Amino acid sequence: MTISQPGLANRSSCDNDEPHSPPAALIPSVVAGSVPPGDIVAIDRLRQEGLRLGEKPLASLRQDFELLDFNTRPSSGVQVLSEYGIRCSTDANSEASRRWRSDFLREILTGTYRATPPDTTIRRKWFQIRMDVADPGMCRPEYRTDCTACEQAIGEGETPTLAWPADSPVFQMCNAQWIHPACIASGADRWVLLGPEKTEGE
Ligand SMILES: [Zn+2]
Repeated sequence: MTISQPGLANRSSCDNDEPHSPPAALIPSVVAGSVPPGDIVAIDRLRQEGLRLGEKPLASLRQDFELLDFNTRPSSGVQVLSEYGIRCSTDANSEASRRWRSDFLREILTGTYRATPPDTTIRRKWFQIRMDVADPGMCRPEYRTDCTACEQAIGEGETPTLAWPADSPVFQMCNAQWIHPACIASGADRWVLLGPEKTEGE
C-alpha cells in the first residue's frame, strides 16, 4: 500500500517551517555505514545491539521517514508528531526531549533493523499516527479503501483496522495495510495486528 503524501516537501522532522534536507535523505548514508549527526544517534544504539540492515528492504522505512518528514511540526494535526515537533523546537535541547526523540526514532528504525512486530505501546502510537494521517477531516479517509485480504470495500461505519502480513519482511508503520476486522479474525495466522487492539470477532 502507499500513503498518499502530496509532494513530500523538503521539510525536516525537526524544523517548524524552514526548508531543510529531510530525514529520508539520511537513510542512504545509513546504508552506506556512516553515522549522520543529531537524533540519528538512535542508529548507533541499534548497531550497539548488533543489529544491521543487511539485505532487508528499505522502501517501507523510507516511507515512514517521509511520513514523519511531512507531518512533524508543533501545529501538526497528527498528535504524536505535534509532540515531536515541539520536542524539536521549543524544548529541543533538554535531556528529556533528546531522549524522547532518540527513543521515538529508534522505535521506527527497529521495524526494519529487528524486523519483528513492535510491542503494544509502540503499536498504539503507530496506529494513532496512521489514523490521524488517514483522516485529516477534509476529504474521504484513506481507510475507506479496499480491504487487502478480501478486496472488498471497507465501507462507512466499518471499523478501520491495520495489520501486517505475517510473513512481512519488515514491520513499519507504512507497510501495515487496511483490512476488515472480520478478515483478520478469520485468518489470524496470516496477519499481525497493528491496531486497534480490540477487533470485531475477537
Ligand atoms: Zn476484508
